[in-house]
Amino acid sequence: MALRLDNLPNAQVNPMANDCLFCKIANGDIPARKLYEDEELVAFWDIAPQAPKHFLVIPKKHLSGPAAVDTDDEALAGRMLRKGAQLARENGVESFRLVFNEGAEAGQTVFHLHLHVLGGRALAWPPG
Ligand code: 5GP
Ligand code: ZN
Repeated sequence: MALRLDNLPNAQVNPMANDCLFCKIANGDIPARKLYEDEELVAFWDIAPQAPKHFLVIPKKHLSGPAAVDTDDEALAGRMLRKGAQLARENGVESFRLVFNEGAEAGQTVFHLHLHVLGGRALAWPPG
């Protein structure tokens, strides 16, 4: 019987999950307004901004969300945070909110780890 790679869990086959929107943005298959890219990370403007400045920072490696960040990914997750803060300041935002959603009930709709960076207006707390 032929080995069907697409029947195996994605993480064991390829860091890019099949049919993942943000993997496709990361590798250029789907266009996005990118504001930063390096070997590990991509940042792009959110298609449905919730603030005047709203962009996402994602790892090129497919991780389903913040709960999937393992010991090996700690440096990568730290880089996401630092890059988000740096890009906020470079885009004229000194006061901003960084958000990771985990799970549908928390508002996660794309199951590829992403850091929201929101700024450019007063942000209410607690969030809805
Ligand atoms: P979540 O709700 O999973 O925390 O955040 C997903 C975010 O991705 C949402 O803010 C949504 O507007 C954004 N988004 C979904 N699809 C696309 C897309 O195709 N392009 C861009 N640039 N952003 C997207
Ligand atoms: Zn992905």
